[in-house]
Amino acid sequence: MKLQELKGVGPKIQEKLNKLGIYQVEDLLFHIPSKYLDKTTISPIFDLKENQSALVQGEIIKVSSFFYKKKIATIKIADESSSLRIRYFNISKDQVSSFKEGRIVRVFGEMRKVGNTKEMIHPEYKFIDDTNNSLEETYTPVYQVTDGINQSRIRSLIKQAIYFLKENKLEVKKIIPRKIEEKFKLLDIKECLLNIHQPKKIKDFKKFEEYVYKYKKRFIFEELLSHQLNFERVKRFNKTIKAFQINTSAQNSLLLKNQLNFTLTNSQQEVISEIQNDLNKENPMLRLVQGDVGSGKTIVALFAALHVILNGYQVAFMAPTEILAVQHFHYIKNLLESFNIKVSLLLGNQKNSEKISIREDIKLGNINIVVGTHSLIQKEILFKNLALTIIDEQHKFGVHQRMHLFSKGKSNEIYPHQLILTATPIPRTLAMTMYGHLDYSIIDEMPLGRKKIITVAKPEEKRNEVVLKIKSICENEKIQVYWVCPLIEESETLQCRTATETFENLQKELINMKVGLIHGRMSFSEKEIIMKDFKNNKIDILVATTIIEVGLDIKNANIIVIENAERMGLSQLHQLRGRVGRGSKQSTCILIYKTGLSENALKRIDVLRNSSDGFDIAAEDLKLRGPGELLGKKQKGSINYRIANIVNDYILLPEVKKCCNLLTEKEIDLLSRRWQKEEVDISRA
Ligand code: ADP
Ligand code: MG
Repeated sequence: MKLQELKGVGPKIQEKLNKLGIYQVEDLLFHIPSKYLDKTTISPIFDLKENQSALVQGEIIKVSSFFYKKKIATIKIADESSSLRIRYFNISKDQVSSFKEGRIVRVFGEMRKVGNTKEMIHPEYKFIDDTNNSLEETYTPVYQVTDGINQSRIRSLIKQAIYFLKENKLEVKKIIPRKIEEKFKLLDIKECLLNIHQPKKIKDFKKFEEYVYKYKKRFIFEELLSHQLNFERVKRFNKTIKAFQINTSAQNSLLLKNQLNFTLTNSQQEVISEIQNDLNKENPMLRLVQGDVGSGKTIVALFAALHVILNGYQVAFMAPTEILAVQHFHYIKNLLESFNIKVSLLLGNQKNSEKISIREDIKLGNINIVVGTHSLIQKEILFKNLALTIIDEQHKFGVHQRMHLFSKGKSNEIYPHQLILTATPIPRTLAMTMYGHLDYSIIDEMPLGRKKIITVAKPEEKRNEVVLKIKSICENEKIQVYWVCPLIEESETLQCRTATETFENLQKELINMKVGLIHGRMSFSEKEIIMKDFKNNKIDILVATTIIEVGLDIKNANIIVIENAERMGLSQLHQLRGRVGRGSKQSTCILIYKTGLSENALKRIDVLRNSSDGFDIAAEDLKLRGPGELLGKKQKGSINYRIANIVNDYILLPEVKKCCNLLTEKEIDLLSRRWQKEEVDISRA
């Protein structure tokens, strides 16, 4: 059934639906809600609980707005019980002026406290009058949407699709053979769809979630199955294709080893030989290397790079941020230049003339290894003979970006090798759900001589103490400090502003020290100068946003202060903490947190204080915060599971695997079309 057959779908809307992976009416039915909201009752503002979503209604008391790169509005509303502040960071003039004092507004959002003030950021809102005040009767499904298609639009379209399904005017393909349905107790597909999109109301929300999960499970099963099947396809395909032949001579390895001012750990050695084995094979390497922050992944990748280059081929090394790419560039240049290897750096913000000449050199093969950000995947960039791609901090990239880089190496049916580095510590079973198509190595040993980082937690009230302490240490010895400002997910602008304010304040508080600032809105050359100064010890305290989260390796920096630590995930804090403790000096991590934290939040901070092992920390995070929070937003998206929650649902995997060889090729195709939007299949790269 075609989308145009629905009311309200013209070519424009259709195009937007396509963006969501919806091409026909059936696809709408498989657009499964990501969650449900309770908009059936209005809560008194007084009863709002921190970090929980609720519907409230009140009179607008005060509206103020100002302009800082974007229009920002703050609105105070009140009901009989209390008052609430709501804020929008990017709002149009017209919208602001619709918020008139005295008007009644109903908002839905998550409450958080700033000091004693209750606040909602970007809540949904609706003005209320006598004719327009009805409440929802059951929980409201929330769907993934895109620009130009909002919740109410997608709901109305799905409602129409459901109507056709109910009336038997639309048939959905079962795909999964009946035998499997029975064996694994999968519920009837139609019943599942109806209950998921139009659930009954069950008062207790927990019970409601259980009821929905019962029906969702069928699709989670389908989706996991589809991914597993695809992993197997990729693996099978990988065995049928040829790779660039790399001869890995022991002598070359030795030459590089001799350049190092340290000895490789056993674990690094092992992984290096696994990689060399891969490179010697006929088929391309497709390997993920996982190692905790600071375990020394870069050098491991460079051994692979060296062999590939000395065999006459090119290497591309992609990092998620510019400052990290610059660091890698210098590191690699330093190590490999004595081998007569030409190293280049390619970034989005370089001068055009510079970019053109680098591109030309890449094409001619004058450059052996190019380091860059995602700028490397632009279509203008053509390699002479790219035989190895290295992706650093892969959780910051999407699969398609990796595949894009990979496809630049394909030539005459010969494919490049791929090496993927990650610090995300996840249990092996979980890794299999995400990376089932990759070979997998772990560096599970830290370089010798690293001291354990001391981690302390201080409530916000004692922030001043922290400043004084740093001042006094600084007067006695030369230290360097990262000062990380709070993560504000809703608005990068605001995050940068907070960093700027912190910078200005610290400058006043620490007069004798050189304070620097770095954030995502600065130009590349500004960032580069600051990082250089920090590296060369010309800056004592570097105030930064979370852009310094991954990869940076500056040995002199041995204190890191993290503000509003309660806003970050444990694994993220662990990553940030990993910016220090990279030399032989004792390092300290100071977590500043908001007082009045829940027991859970305090426990989390404790976990970090007591453990320095990324795996343990991730496991605890899993226990304490539950589903989804362990992996950052991007990570969750990186393999693009649409409904399976890989952190919870991987327990279904053993069952799923049992039916991998029970489906026909045609069924596999159908399933893949239904569940996989992002291409994981290298055969189609
Ligand atoms: P990560 O695994 O977090 O990417 P890096 O590759 O940045 O870690 O390495 C961190 C630092 O440790 C680098 O300065 C690197 O040169 C150094 N290093 C790597 N391996 C060893 C080792 N075996 N012994 C001592 N230092 C090492
Ligand atoms: Mg790294």
